[in-house]
Amino acid sequence: MRVAVVEDDEGVGEALVAALTTRGYLVDRKRRGADLLASHREYDAVILDLGLPDMDGLEVLRLLREVSSVPVLILTARAGERSVVNGLRSGADDYLVKPPRIAELVARLETVTRRMMPAVPAQTVVTRDVRVDLVARQVEVGGVAITLTPTEFHLVRILVEQSGSAVSRQQLMDRIWGDSSTSVSRALDVHMAGLRAKLDRQGLITTIRGFGYRWEM
Ligand code: CA
Repeated sequence: MRVAVVEDDEGVGEALVAALTTRGYLVDRKRRGADLLASHREYDAVILDLGLPDMDGLEVLRLLREVSSVPVLILTARAGERSVVNGLRSGADDYLVKPPRIAELVARLETVTRRMMPAVPAQTVVTRDVRVDLVARQVEVGGVAITLTPTEFHLVRILVEQSGSAVSRQQLMDRIWGDSSTSVSRALDVHMAGLRAKLDRQGLITTIRGFGYRWEM
């Protein structure tokens, strides 16, 4: 499991990285909130300090929550009840006050990441004669396997996870590229066109003008 430790204090940061690494986590240290926002897609969980040099941790969390549901555990010196409540209301999954007991931190980290796992993960989604196996990363159309690029498959995954619901272009770009620049927007058009051509099923992916796409149920 990949964990981002967002902590500007060298001593605390290094101690956390060392403690988590010895327990088998793949840990990256971030010193600024902006560093996390630029790379959040790479992580399965985030440990977030609130007193950061570039912006307040709660602001980082608010921005993160606009694009991600990654589990976040706040770890801060701010012990006041109000601060705890604010943190949880801002979308944190848990809140720990410094200095943390490492065993407790690890236990809570395990709890918040477990919460993310659906009880029964959907492995296969079938829509008409299109079958998407999310675990095997395989797509069959009319019983014949088609070959998708990693990005095309990523698109399929995001769309079928919310099949029947509209998914915004912004969300697709954030999840696939972590970015929504003009060039990424064009890339999305290209990959979507490629995907549709390979699926060859009209009406399976509906374009919602000015918003995004919907995988029909
Ligand atoms: Ca700090």
